[in-house]
Amino acid sequence: MGTDQGAAVRKSEKDKQDFSPEQQVVNINKELFDYSFATISSERNFYQAIHKIFEEVSLRFSLDRSTLMEWDKVNRKIRVTSRWVREDDGNDLEKMEQSASINWFIMEQYYQELEYNILTGGKDGKEDYGRDIYAMNKVPVSAVQFPILDSGKMAGVLTFESWKERDWSKAEIATLSSITKMISSYMLRRQMKAELEAEYVVGKKAMDVQNLIYYVVGEQDYRIRYMSHYARECYPDAKYGQLCYEAFMGRKAPCQACPIKACQAGEEQSIVETYDSEEDNWYTLTASVMDRESGARQFLLCKSNVTAFLERVKGEDQLTGVLSYEKFKLEAVRIIKKEKGSFALVFMGIQDFSRINDEYGYEVGDQVLRKFAEEVTIGLRDGELICRIKGDDFAILVNRRSVERMSQRVGELSSTLTDLFRERFPNISINCFAGVYDISGREEYISRCLDRAMKARKVALKNIYETGGVYVYSKEFELQEKEREETNRTMKNCLQRGYFKVYFQPKVDIVTNEIIGAEALVRLVDKDQHIISPGRFIPLAEESGLIVEIDKYVYEETFRLIKKWQDEGRKVPLVSVNVSRLHLLNDNLPVYMKSLSDKYGLKPEQIELEITESVFFEDTERLVDMIKQMKDIGYITSMDDFGAGFSTLSLMKSLPVDVIKLDGGFFLKNQLDGKSRAVISAMMQLAENLGFKVVSEGVETMEQVEFIREQGSRCVQGFYFYKPMPPEEFEKLLKPSE
Ligand code: C2E
Ligand code: MG
Ligand code: MG
Repeated sequence: MGTDQGAAVRKSEKDKQDFSPEQQVVNINKELFDYSFATISSERNFYQAIHKIFEEVSLRFSLDRSTLMEWDKVNRKIRVTSRWVREDDGNDLEKMEQSASINWFIMEQYYQELEYNILTGGKDGKEDYGRDIYAMNKVPVSAVQFPILDSGKMAGVLTFESWKERDWSKAEIATLSSITKMISSYMLRRQMKAELEAEYVVGKKAMDVQNLIYYVVGEQDYRIRYMSHYARECYPDAKYGQLCYEAFMGRKAPCQACPIKACQAGEEQSIVETYDSEEDNWYTLTASVMDRESGARQFLLCKSNVTAFLERVKGEDQLTGVLSYEKFKLEAVRIIKKEKGSFALVFMGIQDFSRINDEYGYEVGDQVLRKFAEEVTIGLRDGELICRIKGDDFAILVNRRSVERMSQRVGELSSTLTDLFRERFPNISINCFAGVYDISGREEYISRCLDRAMKARKVALKNIYETGGVYVYSKEFELQEKEREETNRTMKNCLQRGYFKVYFQPKVDIVTNEIIGAEALVRLVDKDQHIISPGRFIPLAEESGLIVEIDKYVYEETFRLIKKWQDEGRKVPLVSVNVSRLHLLNDNLPVYMKSLSDKYGLKPEQIELEITESVFFEDTERLVDMIKQMKDIGYITSMDDFGAGFSTLSLMKSLPVDVIKLDGGFFLKNQLDGKSRAVISAMMQLAENLGFKVVSEGVETMEQVEFIREQGSRCVQGFYFYKPMPPEEFEKLLKPSE
């Protein structure tokens, strides 16, 4: 360790030292300084440049480690941002940062007066940093530090270290000092530029997202110098150099109420409100002074449409004249508090309202909404309120007694509206529906009540015929909702943790008794290893959309297993997977499937896609197109659960599927009576005549197998042969491939 006491050199002492400015030039290592300057100015990456400079300096001056530490404004910590080491220092980085963090503000004080600081054995003239220093793997026995100050604040520090005793010559100090100054000027300029750029990007984004119309005009000539993107969008004919009142106000002379005038009279900023009678809109126009360096002043003008805001403040819905939602909330809270009576919140709408707009035009749509509001308003009692939230979403606060008559009122409203428009549009049918939430005795936020009424309205719409278009939110419904949410959460968890498993149920050729196919069926295995069957979770997963993720998991797992079995030399029969309704809505499904089978190196012909019958009634045309695409790729396709719903024989004719799976319901534990025998027989005949392959599902008894055999049909999937089984069991049934 050095015996010298460390030296801190005061700025004032600098002059006393024997290197005057002229001598300094002589004293500094010019070659090293030139190299550093050239590197920093030519290297695009700042930190790479610093590293190169550190390397050169350290080799020249026989140093062991050189570092640049910076104050990271965003994360509010000190970071080593560049470092050169002669040999491995056992990664002292963290310790250096820690030590610097503790001493940073002491250093800041210190360097107000000091030019640089020499530390010998962890000490300088004032402080002893020994403990921090000796905690390092490599002890900087002798070091010199130079601060980088930004308006008196420590922005960084450069440290040059030797792990052996050494003296620092004046020439060395002068050289390092000059290099530090150069680095610090580059670094601070670089930071300033980055900050300005960030400010510009944020500012621009803030302006753009608000859709602000702003533009800059010259003080004397009112000619446009700049326009915001949105200004150009709203006024596509406006041109640079054009008069602002001409371009933005459509006037031939300057506006009477022009905010620039106040600015010309000395105000920094001025705001005026104007009404545009042609557009029927209110605007605020703000002008502020922008001084250009040349002295020619300009004005920044910002024009913003405040019509909607005024409507809201006025509390009226422009289209129907009923309350705005904001006003409704205020009024409703006041009434509920004051009257302490029993109220219910009703959320109403019109079934398929967008179709009315599409078919009869927006004008008619608007008329329907106005009439709706008018009719409901007529029926309101004292203290009851109606507002329009948006589109055909109406919220109504009613006395609890009105709830009993709600079904009747909704029914009457539907017939009144339909009758009113039937004269002009004989085919029109307007059906209203409502969700009701009883708030009696509760103090709740209106938005929360509305949320519940909205959920109830969904049920009313889904079951419009059973509910008569009205559904009241109940305790049981709330519990069910909670349960559904819980199950959904559990399913998501299970998916993440891999608790879903794929089972396989073989399909058998009843003539040869051979396995000629299998269906992949998902299972949920809970933490107690109980197996939960899909009947319990698939409908929910379909509702929440999670089915897409579950199916993707099933496809991946199934394809992976097929590939594995194949590679193990087993003969894998055609395996089918179920495709849910939601998947079919996605136009990318064929591409996704193809990429998946490619990923596992499988041919599409090895996979069958089962699509449940009920889907075929929703959008037959689209579905037929999707199936054709799947078939073109090479997948086998089948219609699942055939006969369970409303399958019509005519539909059968237009379907491009290869296979028809007769629904298990035909066979399940049924004693095959004469009638069902006749139906099954007819369907099988027809299907085979039309060229479909037939699979009979849910076959449980010998008698059923015999009956199928008699019909000349061969493929059976049912408990009589096999139940769905885990892959480990299924693979044992697979024969070696020839
Ligand atoms: P599905 O596609 O019609 O599948 C056939 C169902 O019939 C399976 O029920 C199977 O276990 C059952 N089954 C087969 N033979 C017999 C039998 O002889 N007797 C009785 N009682 N049942 C039999 P599972 O596995 O409970 O699946 C029920 C439904 O859940 C499936 O009907 C399918 O619609 C859906 N599902 C199953 N796995 C998936 C999947 O991975 N994705 C999607 N989207 N749906 C799936
Ligand atoms: Mg199926
Ligand atoms: Mg089925």
